Amino acid sequence: MLPAVAREGGATLNLRRHLASCSRCRDELATYEALVDRLGGLRSVTAEPPPGLLPALIAIPQRGPAERVRSHVEIHRRAYLGGAVAALVAAAGAFVVHQHVRRPAPA
Ligand SMILES: [Zn+2]
Repeated sequence: MLPAVAREGGATLNLRRHLASCSRCRDELATYEALVDRLGGLRSVTAEPPPGLLPALIAIPQRGPAERVRSHVEIHRRAYLGGAVAALVAAAGAFVVHQHVRRPAPA
């Protein structure tokens, strides 16, 4: 419950009593509180784009490189799946061979 207490507070009476007598848990709670504090500093903020960037962003065609790659993969999905299966089979075969080679010779 220490991470939740660090995030939201609300330590129960039992927990507060325990923390009063247990330095390990106090240290752990302090670690979580410091972490929550530092994560809070990473919150995203909305920033205005520099002048000239917004029109350039709007001018990017809707079918950008990522969309072209995605549609290419969709068209050739069967070939990619076949390749992935072949790679898995080859890896499994290599593992079996490796295990076989490593087995000590019978005495
Ligand atoms: Zn403790």
